[in-house]
Amino acid sequence: MTPVNPPLLSVIVCVYNEALVLQQFFARLLPVVEAVAQGDYELVCVDDGSTDDSLSILMQMAEANPRLRVVELSRNFGKEAALTAGIEYATGQAVIPIDADLQDPPELIHALVAQWQKGADVVLARRSNRDSDSLLKRQSSQWFYRLYNKLSNTHLPDNVGDFRLMDRMVVDAVRALPERQRFMKGIFAWVGFKTVTVDYTRAPRVGGKTKFTGWRLWNFALEGITSFTTVPLRVWTYIGLIGAGLSAAYACFIILRTLISGVDVPGYASLLVAVLFMGSMQLVSVGLIGEYIGRLYVEAKQRPIFIVRRTVGFDPAVGGSDAHEARHGAA
Ligand code: UDP
Ligand code: MG
Repeated sequence: MTPVNPPLLSVIVCVYNEALVLQQFFARLLPVVEAVAQGDYELVCVDDGSTDDSLSILMQMAEANPRLRVVELSRNFGKEAALTAGIEYATGQAVIPIDADLQDPPELIHALVAQWQKGADVVLARRSNRDSDSLLKRQSSQWFYRLYNKLSNTHLPDNVGDFRLMDRMVVDAVRALPERQRFMKGIFAWVGFKTVTVDYTRAPRVGGKTKFTGWRLWNFALEGITSFTTVPLRVWTYIGLIGAGLSAAYACFIILRTLISGVDVPGYASLLVAVLFMGSMQLVSVGLIGEYIGRLYVEAKQRPIFIVRRTVGFDPAVGGSDAHEARHGAA
């Protein structure tokens, strides 16, 4: 059900242990959205199971500002799930997800909204400069985008995060995707729509620590690739065919050689190499199949993407909570 009077703008803020930066963040964000939307906005803050004071800070702010709404998740579900929750609850005609650590400059919202008012459905914020990220993170993300775009049919724009503006039409398309494993960047790219890009310089975090380090980033990348392409599964057919072809040629060669120069016992090294190589290739391919089967399993269980413990500031009759119940049958 669509709300009677949807606000012009919804800003989604996913918060996981950001107590150090929240006050600063809102001090910069609020004047911008006030100016852009002239009071016609909502801030959907999703607390993703924070264990510090983030939630109580959010609750205090929600008391002082009726436009600030809080969705409290029952535990830490991860940024992708938190963002999904924010998108479920946001009612605005345009929706902007933004990080709480001020790495996404709130001032850019002016430019995002201006492009939207000129007719764009999606306005991407592209980091023209990522010096604030570590060299390793930049390099690995570059490799990831290159690989992803080679393998997948949907093009992931380079250097674009979740910070963007989406028209209501786009948000509804995203909400209609039922998958449990949510690689949001891929989902956003998959739905398409008329897109323009605005550049910005990515600032360092104003406080606190990044939640995405080594192993988590690796799994995130794996998730992105397996969610949007089956090339890694299919490629084994071709590797197998090439291997079979080569083995057949080698077999012919051995048969001929045996016929011509008799039985030849040596060959231990080549045999061992062949056995080990084929064995590891099989393990890798089985592992890859396992990745996809694991994902099928998670999808088949049909668990909700997130669980809401409580919400503050949402009218129960309209908007997000209603939509949420319809989607997850949580009533
Ligand atoms: N975040 C979240 N749940 C998580 C991890 C992160 O909601 O499990 C939020 C976090 O509070 C921040 C945003 O996602 O607002 C981006 O996180 P972070 O700055 O750690 O990522 P990075 O910018 O280093 O990629
Ligand atoms: Mg950050």
